[in-house]
Amino acid sequence: MESIKCIGCGAELQTEEKNKPGFIPASGLDKEEPICKRCYRLKHYNEVMDIDVDSGEFMTMLNALYETEGLIVKVIDVFDFHGSLIPAFNRIVGDKKVVAVINKIDLLPKSINRGRLVHRAKQMLSEAGITAVDTVVVSAMKNEGIDKLVDKLSGYADGKDIYVVGTTNVGKSTLINRLIENTSGDREVITTSRFPGTTLDLIDIPLDENAFIYDTPGVVMDSQMAHYVGTGDLKYITPVKEIKPKGFQLDPQQTLFISNLARLDFVDGDRNSFIVYTNHALNIHRTKTENADAFYEKHFNTLLAPPELDTAYLSESYEIFEFDIEEDSDISISGLAFIRVGAGAKVAVRVPKGIDVTSRPTIF
Ligand code: GDP
Repeated sequence: MESIKCIGCGAELQTEEKNKPGFIPASGLDKEEPICKRCYRLKHYNEVMDIDVDSGEFMTMLNALYETEGLIVKVIDVFDFHGSLIPAFNRIVGDKKVVAVINKIDLLPKSINRGRLVHRAKQMLSEAGITAVDTVVVSAMKNEGIDKLVDKLSGYADGKDIYVVGTTNVGKSTLINRLIENTSGDREVITTSRFPGTTLDLIDIPLDENAFIYDTPGVVMDSQMAHYVGTGDLKYITPVKEIKPKGFQLDPQQTLFISNLARLDFVDGDRNSFIVYTNHALNIHRTKTENADAFYEKHFNTLLAPPELDTAYLSESYEIFEFDIEEDSDISISGLAFIRVGAGAKVAVRVPKGIDVTSRPTIF
């Protein structure tokens, strides 16, 4: 195909990959002034679509951000804190102000201690080398905390542009759509534009007279579960409504399977409680550790599904993370679950190779 550019954003038009910049259905190419699907949705529905880029392009874009002035909004998925962090973020941001937005608060039980959550979020950001001027808790989906966020953003931006960044699946598009609703009123809404020096298009949303909000594409981190299941199966693992934690009292040498994507072996310690926070659609199974391998082989695509897997990851391509839990902690399996474990347990967590598993003091 001869290269034609989208008149909205300038991205090269292509008909092959739906989630990449410049996608247009083949029929659209015959139009006189072709625009990509993303610009089309923006123009006609005021709605942004997810565009994913690979990590190389993502880093190029972020590096270009370094040169600009503005406010950075770093979106973090409360359910996958670790997977929300962008490597080398701080170097890229330079001395720009950062507002951390902790999204998807609706997933956690209403009774949680929010003060502790914000305190822990700040600690974890600071451990990752990120200093935020403010940490705001929201639910983009439920429109909770968005008004307050808009006010704060106008204040911190002080007339400068705002860039919303985040890894994929943290809720960036959902948040941007909320910001559009909350800021545009009946003004001419959006144009898209090319970010200087990169092939990436960004979306301008007028916040006030001077400032625009730019939506940057997301990047799928190799360490996120989203990398391992098909997009169709993401619905099983990304929780969408309030998580009902499931508690188990385990003896050592017992194993919990979290669907066919992770298993936690309770290696040693006194009888202990394990509370699993995960999408309710996933099956959780308890077995004896000595039977766990055989159980997985036999049931990975039946009792332990969904999702349905092409590869039996936990027997064919896996990694094991071991933890000696010294204080009550959450073991976080990026994008899939976190498991609250009481002090004194020694555990081993098995996941598909490449997925990150971390242990941290409880987050609420
Ligand atoms: P992006 O890849 O960062 O742009 O993320 P999306 O906006 O596409 O959202 C990823 C997934 O998280 C989708 O299934 C959204 O419905 C869901 N999501 C986004 N925001 C929220 C939220 O505030 N709460 C909940 N429960 N889910 C959300």
